[in-house]
Amino acid sequence: MEPNKTRKEIIFEGVPASPGVAHGWSFVYIKQEVEIPRYQVDSNAHKAEIARFEKALLETRKQISDIRQQVVVKLGEDEARIFDAHLLVLEDVALIDETIRAQKQSGLNIEVAFYDVSQRYIDVFKMMDDNYIKERVSDIQDVAKRVLNVLLGQTPSNMGQFTESKIIVAEDLEPSTTATLDKSKVLGIITDKGSRSSHAVIMARSLQVPAVVGLHNITEHIAPDDYILVDGYDGKVIVNPTENTLFTYGQYQRVRQTLQGVFESSLDKPSTTLDGHSLKLMANIGGVNNIDQCKNMRAEGVGLFRTESIFLGRTDYPTEEEQYIAYKQVVERMNPLPVVIRTLDLGGDKKMANQHFSPKEENPFMGLRAVRFCLENPRIFKDQLRAILRAGKHGNMKIMYPMISGLEELKQANALLETARQELRDRGDACDYPVEIGIMIEIPAAVMIADILAQHCSFFSIGTNDLIQYTLAVDRVNDQIAHLYEPSHPAILRSLKTTISAAQKQGIKVCVCGEMASDPLYLPLLLGVGVNELSLTAVAIPEIKYLLRNCTYEETKILFDILLEQSDGKNVLNLLKSFYDRKVKENKG
Ligand code: PEP
Ligand code: MG
Repeated sequence: MEPNKTRKEIIFEGVPASPGVAHGWSFVYIKQEVEIPRYQVDSNAHKAEIARFEKALLETRKQISDIRQQVVVKLGEDEARIFDAHLLVLEDVALIDETIRAQKQSGLNIEVAFYDVSQRYIDVFKMMDDNYIKERVSDIQDVAKRVLNVLLGQTPSNMGQFTESKIIVAEDLEPSTTATLDKSKVLGIITDKGSRSSHAVIMARSLQVPAVVGLHNITEHIAPDDYILVDGYDGKVIVNPTENTLFTYGQYQRVRQTLQGVFESSLDKPSTTLDGHSLKLMANIGGVNNIDQCKNMRAEGVGLFRTESIFLGRTDYPTEEEQYIAYKQVVERMNPLPVVIRTLDLGGDKKMANQHFSPKEENPFMGLRAVRFCLENPRIFKDQLRAILRAGKHGNMKIMYPMISGLEELKQANALLETARQELRDRGDACDYPVEIGIMIEIPAAVMIADILAQHCSFFSIGTNDLIQYTLAVDRVNDQIAHLYEPSHPAILRSLKTTISAAQKQGIKVCVCGEMASDPLYLPLLLGVGVNELSLTAVAIPEIKYLLRNCTYEETKILFDILLEQSDGKNVLNLLKSFYDRKVKENKG
């Protein structure tokens, strides 16, 4: 089929969720709205209705467990954890008991009772002033629909009719639908709803399928089998693209593919500049599933292991043993390369599935987050510290505390680390080897006292994601003020300079592990200011290494001095863009 040349091209802008460009025919995903029959049942039939309900719960459980297993095979254990939350919905005693009671009281069929009760839960969750809980609404909706479909013997959606490679257009995708998609048939994904942290988006990124979300009402503008182009780099969706647009994007894709080939050609070469200056390129990970990718991209270690990923989506805290296994696997597989294990950074937008563990706060990013949470909950913190110390025996491990704002916090965290060590000694499992302890610099207060902090730790790692949010007072997850979130702001450049000067004076190393490290535009800035290491998304390593190998350290130092003189972040960005263009054009091929 050829694109329809007579229809008008329309461009929509949304949130870029997964990089890449794809074009093809649309498949409009229609969620089957379950039609629930309503009828009175005989009072003697109460038991039979309950038996039908229990059988449906069991069958649904089996379906979800099967999906979970498929996801483990396709994407790994971390991604599959979402379905543990689904299984928990099925085990929710309150939901089940209320349904049984409602059926008995009303004398109506069990489908009506279950629908009413689950709907009440959904309404309550929707009203909660907490984005994480709100996003869990889709989990309950997903499970409730599945149970009703089983009770009524229906198939859940039109996804079964999806046989050719297409672009999926949906209001929102349920996690179970996204997870079971056949990657070979999905060209791209676009949705009305969703943020970068919604489950469907996390899955799309793992599938490495281009995706744009948060398009508000795109489903109203797209008919089945419209021709669509998805630009997951810039968050654009073009319906009925003209020949010209397809040609331009075709060239863009070819350029990107050729460039990627050029970038990857440097993969096995050392990460040094033309004048022999080294910049260590390490990877950010969330668990052992990311290690293959780290190795493929020749990461020189793990510069940031976000340990909270083991806690998220769970309703209970992982035990010391569970954590030990998770950390040990990573340390062992990376050995002899270093692994920086960051202690728990729960809070902000990273909440556990159980509300009890993540109480509501007016300003969660300014609240009981990261090391503050750990110091308030020493038992949970020590469980983690013991697990980390035990895992460290299996390789080259360092510890890092997030969100340090003052020396006292660092001292208290270190004191608990010593207590954890003593507890291990008392258990006969001594972990008395030396460990390097570093801190994240991601709060403006830490920048201002970097000279003091540098005297009490072995390394700094600059978390630019938070440093930008706190310095510029721009909520990092609020898309309404996203244009104000400016890594090139002069205040950020000065903060980097202050931090690095303090570290250099004390002779400790500085890593940058925020997203700025993954953005090739910022490489000369970070190199020129004197950063020693970068920890980045593994897939970004080839391009960063390529650029690094085509710069001299001297020219980036001169560039940084010029950048520092700029009074406006836009000028900084323009200078960085021309530097990048020059390097890529000069050296292509
Ligand atoms: C950061 O803030 O830059 C960082 C790396 O930590 P996180 O994104 O996990 O807050
Ligand atoms: Mg941070």
